[in-house]
Parts: sequence; structure tokens; C-alpha cells
Amino acid sequence: MNGSPDPASHHDPRLAARLAEVKARIAAAARAAGRDPAAIRLLAVSKTFGADRVLALAAQGQQAFGENYVQEALAKMAACCPGSPGRSPEPASQGPEPPELPPLEWHFIGPIQSNKTRAIAERFAWVHSVDREKIATRLGEQRPAALPLLECCVQVNVSGEASKSGCAPDEALAVARAIVAQARLRLRGVMAIPEPDPDPGLQRMRFASARAVLEGIRRALAAESPAVCAALDTLSMGMSADLESAIAEGATIVRIGSALFGSRAAGSH
Ligand SMILES: *Cc1c(COP(=O)(O)O)cnc(C)c1O
Repeated sequence: MNGSPDPASHHDPRLAARLAEVKARIAAAARAAGRDPAAIRLLAVSKTFGADRVLALAAQGQQAFGENYVQEALAKMAACCPGSPGRSPEPASQGPEPPELPPLEWHFIGPIQSNKTRAIAERFAWVHSVDREKIATRLGEQRPAALPLLECCVQVNVSGEASKSGCAPDEALAVARAIVAQARLRLRGVMAIPEPDPDPGLQRMRFASARAVLEGIRRALAAESPAVCAALDTLSMGMSADLESAIAEGATIVRIGSALFGSRAAGSH
């Protein structure tokens, strides 16, 4: 990642073409599933890519960016939009650069260590990877009152032993309740990262089980809190290789890295 972004690199026809291709894949998958393409949000996963790539994609109208590593994300935010707590300020009206950008919205999607919750609570708009009650509590206590509610998803492990991150499906409701218990957090739904499976049928079943976990949470909370249920609108699942299966099973946010930015350097995260 290099330091300060070069505005001249904002125009990147290859990036624009990849963005158009990903949007076309999302739209085709939505139509195939009888869904409205507008109901599926694209989260651009910018881990390992520099602020210049983020700004170049933002110049194409992309607003939401996903990051996995706190330190990397904070450095990138500072380079993209100085002084912003999770959102960029309105573009300055004077001066020729940078070009007008939509406000950026940062989503944390990586594993969460307890000692990183404060930075996440202070700098991000969304957290997809809440997988234990303690993390929910810390995020809630550390979310500054001056910021909007922190939008949270429960990360569920739908691949069994093949994956270390995410809570077990039968723990998801407890994590969801821990989020609901925090006034500065808003429970939005469920996130899953199924292990890649060459069998598309199996892959779809894993996405279907993530959806089932969300439906279970919704049923459990329906009686207690209609307001909480009304905000439960998010299934964060699907990446570059499998967004079609995820959309077929109800994904509302797809998290796309390599199909937008190109492949990450070998050996990097
Ligand atoms: C890296 C990553 C992605 C994007 O993966 P691609 O295969 O590059 O699209 C999505 N979600 C999470 C949690 C990731 O870590």
C-alpha cells in the first residue's frame, strides 16, 4: 500500500470494466432468482489494495468498502479521507482535486481481537464479523455516542470444522441478543464465509444454512421486539467466486475483492 493517493490514477478504465462486470453478474444472478438487483448491495473488499485503488473505485460511484485488518484499514482511511470517523467528510468545494466522491462507508469484515474493538467501534459504519457475546458488548460500550449506531451482523460458521471464524449456528441467537442488548449497536443480520466447494449444490446448501440461521433469529426475536426484527434485513454472503449461489440463497450484501481489484499478491492475506 503506498502513502498518499495520486488523483491522476483515479481514472482507471480496467477498474471501471471490472466494476461493470461484477454489477452485471449481480444483476443476472438476481434476475435468475426472481429478485430485484437493487436489493443486493456490493461491498468492495479492498484489503491489501491501497488508498489509490479505493479512491479510483469511489470515483466510479462505489461507496461501501470492506477491510479485514484494523491497522491497514486505519491507514487507508487516513489516506482516503483525512479526519473521518468511518465516513468521509463532504468533498471540499475549493481546489481542483480530488474529484467529487460519494461519502465512503467502511465495513469491518475480518476476525476481531478484543484489543481491536475500540478502533473498530470508533471508525467503522458496519461490522460483519461479530462472533461472540464479549465482542458485541465491547463494541457497544465503545461506540461513541456522537456516531450513528454501529450496524452489526453475526458471523456464523456454516462450514463446520473446515473454518475457524464465526460462531456455531446454535450460538448465533445468543450473539444476536448480545448485540440487541447494546443501545449503540443495531443488529442487521448474519454474515457467512462458506468454505469454497467445487460442488455448486453443496455450496448453495451452505448459503441456505446461513439464511436459515437468520430466519431462526428473526423468529426468536419477533415476539419480543418487532422493531429489532424490522431492522433484520441483511445476509452478507458471496465473494468473487460464488456470488451467484449466494444471491440465489438470498444474499443482500456480496463482498467482492479480487473480481474488482485483481488477484491479491501471493502469500498476502
Ligand atoms: C477477502 C474477503 C472477501 C473477498 O474475497 P474475494 O474472493 O477476493 O472476492 C470477502 N469476504 C471476506 C470476509 C474476506 O476476507
